[in-house]
Amino acid sequence: MAGRLYICATPIGNLEDITFRAVETLKQVQLIAAEDTRHSGTLLSRYGIHTPVTSYHEHNRYEKAEVLLERLRAGDDIALITDAGTPVISDPGEVIVKLARKEGIEVLTLPGPCALIAALSVSGIAGRRFCFEGFLPADNVERRAVLEELKTEPRTVILYEAPHHLKSTLQELYRTLGDRQIALCRELTKLHEEAAVMTLSEAAALYGETEPKGEFVLVIEGRSREQAAAETAAKWESVSLTEHLQHYLEEGLSQKEAMKQMAKDRGVTKRDIYNELQRQKEREGEA
Ligand code: SAM
Repeated sequence: MAGRLYICATPIGNLEDITFRAVETLKQVQLIAAEDTRHSGTLLSRYGIHTPVTSYHEHNRYEKAEVLLERLRAGDDIALITDAGTPVISDPGEVIVKLARKEGIEVLTLPGPCALIAALSVSGIAGRRFCFEGFLPADNVERRAVLEELKTEPRTVILYEAPHHLKSTLQELYRTLGDRQIALCRELTKLHEEAAVMTLSEAAALYGETEPKGEFVLVIEGRSREQAAAETAAKWESVSLTEHLQHYLEEGLSQKEAMKQMAKDRGVTKRDIYNELQRQKEREGEA
């Protein structure tokens, strides 16, 4: 019978943040696959876990997955851990999980810490709907593309960021998204834990002067309906009513539907649009 693959969350700082079940399972499995065996050694020795450990990281994720799958096929249970938090979440794990599932190997979760959830829970920023982007792409073109997408994202946006990129990221976020609320969640569960809520302009100014230290999760307010409406209204302000109407008629809308949409775009009533179009017609008739 094939073994099981356990996807095991480990602490994101405070070593006490590990479940009883995770500790027991880490003791019972035949092998632990760890992102960095030395780093995880501290956690494993703290809990008296003497299970053999092998490395499974970003750079050996394909070749090593084959080795691990062989062990699973032979009936060994394996637990996958990373340096902090939940595997797969901006961490290795996706490849082995996919391959194991494809072979019908049981993949089980040992849930626990995850920096994005920890940050969202203390941020005070809307938690009902959110999207997680992980680290923004390093490539400039891809990065711009993602930032452009985030500009209109109505859900709360959560990002991971390394301290040495924080200053430029905050400036880019402010330039692209405008002045919204942000929670800078730093060193969660550690001695210098902090969740500071401010506006993006304040954050960009603060870290323009102060050198950021530690690990950060950025929780950013999504684009509000008011902001979306103001942006649409501003966009149409420079366009004449006749052009605006023409735009929708060319899209196949009826005159009535077009006026309804125009009113929505400009933040006015349909009657306002109708009256203004009438006045324009009269003026054109007089001329
Ligand atoms: N798999 C992890 C998880 O479940 O959150 C994330 C791993 S990712 C490589 C590391 C990033 O997570 C850091 O750069 C930081 O953005 C965030 N992070 C991890 N631990 C953190 C902590 N204690 N406080 C704030 N952010 C943390």
